[in-house]
Amino acid sequence: MARCPRCETEVVDPTKDYWKYGVFKVKMYECPCGNQFREYFIFGSVTIEFVWCLLVSFLLIVGSLWFVADQAHRTVTLEEARQVQIALKARMSERTASSIFVNNLAASWFLVAPYVGLILFGVTLCNTAWHIGVLAVAQQTAPQTLVAKALVFGFAETLAYTVMLAENLYLSWIIVKKPREDATARLTSHSWKSFLLYLVLLFLGAVLEERAL
Ligand SMILES: [Zn+2]
Repeated sequence: MARCPRCETEVVDPTKDYWKYGVFKVKMYECPCGNQFREYFIFGSVTIEFVWCLLVSFLLIVGSLWFVADQAHRTVTLEEARQVQIALKARMSERTASSIFVNNLAASWFLVAPYVGLILFGVTLCNTAWHIGVLAVAQQTAPQTLVAKALVFGFAETLAYTVMLAENLYLSWIIVKKPREDATARLTSHSWKSFLLYLVLLFLGAVLEERAL
């Protein structure tokens, strides 16, 4: 089932079932209005638009971390940074996998809400990035080095946020651009999969982080 981009009619059956093009799957539709259009999927049923959202989300996360950490690095003095470092160390030493999981969940679950979730997540992300920049000052290293380290060691956690942010962006886009049924359809048939994947990745990230401590 797909919606004609010209007249917004829902077309149920593709003209050809589908054909494969590497990892891509293409479905072709013919609308009663005469318009022919295609739908592109990757790895089975993931739409190409969602893949774009994943890519944009990842770049947004990395870009924000990079930029804000750099700003903090330029602003904070060594003495201030050392104080923050001591406070952070005390907090970090008490952490367990489950407390890390709950913390990260509390800091990002609101991404389930389109728009509002984006703003809240943006604030959390900038806050984290700021702390990375401050730690870079305390450790007298480049903020980019710490951001890179955080991305490598926290790759599962980063992927979790990427998936959830992408789902948020995708839903927000559908709400603006498509009829209401499409948003409902996305929520009931696919969004929960993203949420499940987010939970699994976040949990994996927490377990890995506890081991690294
Ligand atoms: Zn049409």
